[in-house]
Amino acid sequence: MIYADNAATTKMNTAAADAMRSCMEQAWGNPSSLYGLGQRAAEVLQDARERIAACIGASCKEITFTSGGSEADNQAIRSTALLGAQRGKRHIISTAFEHHAVMHTLKRLEGEGFEVELLPVGGLGTVTAGQVAAAIREDTALVTVMYANNEIGSILPIPEIGAACRERGVLFHTDAVQAAGHLPIDVRAQNIDLLSLSAHKFHGPKGAGALYARQGVPLTSLIEGGAQERGRRAGTENVPAIAGMAAALEEACAHMEENAARVSALRDRLIAGLSQIPHAALNGDPVNRLPGNVNFCFEGVEGESLLLLLDSWGICASSGSACTSGSLDPSHVLLAIGRPHEAAHGSLRLSLCGENTEADAEAILKAVPEAVNHLRDLSPLWRDKVSGKRNFIL
Ligand SMILES: *Cc1c(COP(=O)(O)O)cnc(C)c1O
Repeated sequence: MIYADNAATTKMNTAAADAMRSCMEQAWGNPSSLYGLGQRAAEVLQDARERIAACIGASCKEITFTSGGSEADNQAIRSTALLGAQRGKRHIISTAFEHHAVMHTLKRLEGEGFEVELLPVGGLGTVTAGQVAAAIREDTALVTVMYANNEIGSILPIPEIGAACRERGVLFHTDAVQAAGHLPIDVRAQNIDLLSLSAHKFHGPKGAGALYARQGVPLTSLIEGGAQERGRRAGTENVPAIAGMAAALEEACAHMEENAARVSALRDRLIAGLSQIPHAALNGDPVNRLPGNVNFCFEGVEGESLLLLLDSWGICASSGSACTSGSLDPSHVLLAIGRPHEAAHGSLRLSLCGENTEADAEAILKAVPEAVNHLRDLSPLWRDKVSGKRNFIL
């Protein structure tokens, strides 16, 4: 099997699995309990907090553990929206291609009386600091812009956007779920007030994430209950998963440069090869993109069919975002970069990691053109295009 869907989730690495097992066997107490066993769990938690903070240039008091990236996004946005509303500020700036965890939270806030402004992301899928600065108003409570896009891989100018926000005294949150462990993060140098990350996107366990909130930015708890996480997140902490997250992030950060170099070489090989397919188009920025991200639209092909055919040949890939499969709507990300509906339906995302090999790339470069040709041969729409009854769009 070739696994090329690392943007959806990653396989846990040995360091994370070992840390989890050791925690489950030796520090399985409740970290709120005062006896030794509980305190051993509390120490694991504190150690993980310090290590995760160190990986992103934060201090440990600024880290709140959550159940994952979605919860971190929800909490960051809800907390800052509430803070704004208390000061009469109800305007929120974001982009048209955020993850659903951000999009749907913003949608909900709109229903609660907030005004949400989604900046257009252009054909390459990015926004500039200038665009953000121009959109900021007296009543802007928050700017939330993702660090890197999960579908098309484009990397946004986070330090510049952060600086524009700071200059105008507006809080800045970034969903860094696709960036953490893959791109260098320094919350102070990059002017970030709040940042979300998720363990299972960097070879840690699912169901663990963290929200960084700069000291002085108060967080509202989404869950009522005990006083865990200093009152910012009720519920007994998932200590083994948090230990696994710390181990995975450290490992990812320690090998970030060499991994990025190897993975981006494979990525570029795939992009060059798949670009040879007629009526295909690369989605996203060809240069400024996540090391492992390859995303194409193939005209005359249904993304879902392509995905299933590749699966039957032992290749795991994705069409748009995993969260949207099962829905007939094309990806909002592909629509946001200007792909027409028809082209957006024929998209394929391959997302690589350090474990992928040259042989994987070779197999993909053989399989994808074959699959595309096969599906086109079966397509009445494609036949119409070839015979000139319909126009090509890509
Ligand atoms: C995966 C992902 C999330 C959600 O994280 P979970 O831990 O799965 O809840 C949020 N934002 C982005 C950009 C993602 O890729």
